[in-house]
Order: sequence, then C-alpha cells, then structure tokens
Amino acid sequence: METKNNKNKGKGIFLFLSILSLLVLILLVISLWYLISPRLDSFHPYITIGLKLILGLSIIVVTGGLFLIVLSALTEKDFLFPHGEKQITIKVLFPINLFLGRLFGWSKDQIRESFVAVNNSLFKATRKRINPDSILILLSHCLQNYDCPQKITADYHNCRMCGKCQISQIIELRDIYSIKLAIATGGTLARKVVVEKKPTVIVAVACERDLTSGIQDVYPVPVYGILNQRPYGPCMNTRVDIGRIEKALNIILNGRA
Ligand code: SF4
Repeated sequence: METKNNKNKGKGIFLFLSILSLLVLILLVISLWYLISPRLDSFHPYITIGLKLILGLSIIVVTGGLFLIVLSALTEKDFLFPHGEKQITIKVLFPINLFLGRLFGWSKDQIRESFVAVNNSLFKATRKRINPDSILILLSHCLQNYDCPQKITADYHNCRMCGKCQISQIIELRDIYSIKLAIATGGTLARKVVVEKKPTVIVAVACERDLTSGIQDVYPVPVYGILNQRPYGPCMNTRVDIGRIEKALNIILNGRA
C-alpha cells in the first residue's frame, strides 16, 4: 500500500529542486542587479525604479507560487489560488530543476517522475474545481501490440478486441464510464486531439518525458498523469496499471481514490 511517507518521498525530488532553483534564481537576480546598478544611475531615476519593481514583483510571484505549490502538494489541499501561479512558477523553475538535478546525480526521468507525482497531488488538491463533464483518456500508441496491424490511432474502434494488448481493456473501461478515448503517436497529435475533443480533464498514460511536456503544453486543462511500464524497453509493447486509470477516474468523478 502507498503510504503518505512514500508518496511525499516521490514528490520530494521535484519540490527540493524547485526550492533550490528559486534560491539560485534569486541569487542570480541579486548578482545581476549588483552588476548593472552602477550603470543605471546614469539613466533616468524612473528606469531604475521600474526595473526594481519588475524584478521584485517577478520574485514575489515565483516565490509565492512555489510556496502555494509546496503547501498544496504536501497536504493535497487547495491553496493554489489564483489560477496561473502553478504554470508561471513551474515554467520558470523546471529547466533549472533539470540542471541542478543532474548535479545531484538524479536522471532527467527521475526528476520528471517526481514532477508527475507533484502534478497529481495538485490535481487532487484542486479536484473540486475540476469539471468532470468531458473526461478524456489519452494513451500513448506504444501500448498497442507491436505486431498489431489495426489503425487504432485514427480510430480506436478499429481495435478488434483480441486481448493481445491492454487497448481492449481500456476500451471496455471507456464503455463503462462513457468517457472519451484517444490514442496518439506523439506530442503533436496529442495536442491536436486536445484541441478537437476539448476535454475539461485528461487522464494521460505515457512515459516521463511525454507526460511532463504534455502536462505543461495543455495547461490550463488539468491532467492526471500515469507512467507507463516498459518491460520491453521504450516505445514498444508498453503496459499500464489499469487500476491506476480507474483510481484516477474515481478521483475525478467521486473525489476519492
Ligand atoms: S487488443 Fe488486439 S486488435 Fe486491439 S490493439 Fe491490441 S492487439 Fe490490436
């Protein structure tokens, strides 16, 4: 069973790196200010005041955003008001997190996996705001049996339900819950599906890299991310814990796992 300690441990890498990145960012801004401030004196005083305001406000927005993210991710309670804090903060800090993470010996995938765990906690924290009207299950096509000739990315109804891969099980789940389903071959097609189907909430199954970029790309549509399993290596005959998809649907529809 997943204990609270284990869950927070999964989020720990991303939250720790985010706090560290913020400190690095503040240090960089202060150093930059120290370097350029003597030259600014030769300009109009309003320029100096304006720049100070912009830098100060940016730091306040990112720091405030991160504080709310950490609080919401750890407690799974909704402190993420107003909307937008999450996006700005994560967009700014994410590349620095990846860089610092490498210095600590964490791989990109470990950091992305931790990001998905943080994202899912924020998803649960804000679930009361989520409108379950239109739920989309978005799958990476590598779940399909590698030798299957059916063109399921064009239309999942082309699946013959032979049971050689988990696509048939997920279609059955779709029928039970009467939700939308799409299978995409990559980020571009996934974005196209989101534009066409206009979901209010997405349950996505993919690898660390695709989930991380997808979650950020489709913002503000909330995404619950589920990592695929890769017993045969990347992009081939991947699998997913179907129970985790059901758990996500229960969180969305009933507010509990
Ligand atoms: S269940 Fe069978 S027909 Fe459907 S995608 Fe998998 S292998 Fe192809």
